Amino acid sequence: MTFDFSKVGEQFQFNCTQCADCCSGDQTVLLNLYDLYKLARHLKLPNTQLLFEQKILFLKLDEENAVFRPQIRFKTKPLKFCPFLINEWTENNQIKGWCQLHPHAKPLVCALSPVGIRLDSRQDQLEFLLVPPTSNCPGLKEPVIQSLGKYLQPYKREIEWQTDFFNILEICKSKNWTAEDFKQELYTFPVLEPFEQILNQLRKNFEFA
Ligand code: SF4
Ligand code: SF4
Repeated sequence: MTFDFSKVGEQFQFNCTQCADCCSGDQTVLLNLYDLYKLARHLKLPNTQLLFEQKILFLKLDEENAVFRPQIRFKTKPLKFCPFLINEWTENNQIKGWCQLHPHAKPLVCALSPVGIRLDSRQDQLEFLLVPPTSNCPGLKEPVIQSLGKYLQPYKREIEWQTDFFNILEICKSKNWTAEDFKQELYTFPVLEPFEQILNQLRKNFEFA
């Protein structure tokens, strides 16, 4: 597996203003296996199945890839927003958004935004792209230059685990699984043991090392 950073470049302009736009409305927050593990532990649940049973997450069909992915269920009333978002009025009468899961249980997709990652399975390559979190994200206009290497460094291990997750999903594509199959076979596991052990077991189940 190789990494392709060319679509982002070594530097990019970004500084999140915590406007919370990307945590509300019709945003999609897809989770990987380690996100499920972190979230269940953060909520003091013994296993990931309860995240679905308690309707915190649901499975969304990724039609392009024919796989189901876990997604955070946003609240819908009175507005659509992530259940982990805390809004606060500032002294300047502006709304600021805080993530309750920040930093240790935050989903990787939120933590890396606006950098996105995609698997190019034909080239066995992980591609990094700049994906504006919203069409008008003010953070992308902030005069702060980020170095891609430094930006990704704290998430090195999670990115490796994301690669494993993408590889498992590639194997799942051929199985014609229903949402329930995905939930039982892939997304349900206890979270009391270290994540590496769970991932090693999944690697064995899916027959790749
Ligand atoms: S839309 Fe942009 S600036 Fe606003 S919270 Fe999301 S990343 Fe930050
Ligand atoms: S998990 Fe946190 S960062 Fe991600 S959408 Fe929810 S509140 Fe926003």
